[in-house]
Amino acid sequence: MIYKRYPTKKIFVGDVAIGGDSPISVQSMTYSKTSDVEATLEQIKRLHFAGANIVRVAVPDMNAANALKAIKEQSSLPIVADIHFNYKLALIASEVVDCIRFNPGNIGEQGRIKEIVKACKNRNIPIRIGVNCGSLESVFEDKYGQTALGMVASADYNIKFLEDLGFDDIKISLKASDVQRTVEAYRLLRPKNDYPFHLGVTEAGTLFHSTIKSSIALGSLLLDGIGDTLRVSITGELEKEIEVGRAILKDSGLTKDGVNIISCPTCGRIEADLVSAVAQVEEATKHIKAPLNISVMGCVVNAIGEAKSADVAIAYGKGSGLIIKKGEIIEKLPTEKLLERFLEEVEKEAESYFINL
Ligand code: SF4
Repeated sequence: MIYKRYPTKKIFVGDVAIGGDSPISVQSMTYSKTSDVEATLEQIKRLHFAGANIVRVAVPDMNAANALKAIKEQSSLPIVADIHFNYKLALIASEVVDCIRFNPGNIGEQGRIKEIVKACKNRNIPIRIGVNCGSLESVFEDKYGQTALGMVASADYNIKFLEDLGFDDIKISLKASDVQRTVEAYRLLRPKNDYPFHLGVTEAGTLFHSTIKSSIALGSLLLDGIGDTLRVSITGELEKEIEVGRAILKDSGLTKDGVNIISCPTCGRIEADLVSAVAQVEEATKHIKAPLNISVMGCVVNAIGEAKSADVAIAYGKGSGLIIKKGEIIEKLPTEKLLERFLEEVEKEAESYFINL
């Protein structure tokens, strides 16, 4: 497959570039009350540590809006203020944050959007037009229902409205709570403009369900070359949103950081406690940034074949096993000694990757 990213305009949220040739960034959203500055900063810190590039905070009331200055001053990540219903909150937020996200379906009349645009223009910060299928403007919902076409019509309308005001510092999201409408909407809108897209399935559910929905939707779009930044939305899981988002990018082949673990599903031919071995490997290699393929297989049936494309591999056998590096068997050891030796070789391989860069 030839991956070709759709050419988009580059914009900046704080110091993070979105679109153009910039890396696809991963975002999340705090769930603390934004008015609680300390709690919000604590969550931002956790997200930063987990590898987030940008954080969004809800601004539902004046207390939240007034807390933004202190949050922004101490935040290690660029801040997007998320505004629904009350445009005045957007005006306060726009004085301090790095981007305003508003939902055109519930912000109200055009005069209010004009004021938000003026404020963002003054500070040179972008706007995310965040269309949600569940809250379309009535004119579009009446005409198209809660469909991909309705989302695209809303986005088209609002893009044009902002452009007519001379504003093009825009990114766009088109979120539905299911995979099909989400994918359809982004695919329909993509050829119509070159603004960067923020991908996401909204209200995607728990860790299990959101991981599946987001992997299908975001994976499909990313492989189509669509998407410049993303959020995996998971009920109540901060770090997991980043972990899953990063894994989607990596497993789509769009980032190369870290190890890719190849492990078999196990079957009746298994010769070792593979479940525990793979869990230990996953934990022990989390810190590695080098893009290594490592393979941990439960018997020799497929292990030798998989090892050919792995940087380092284990093939378990009866009471012993093989360590294989780049397809070459380097050692045969008793089962209990294999894992430690394997991890040593993985570390060596990771070090030599950066030395040889
Ligand atoms: S590698 Fe061996 S143990 Fe693992 S699934 Fe294949 S045949 Fe079964």
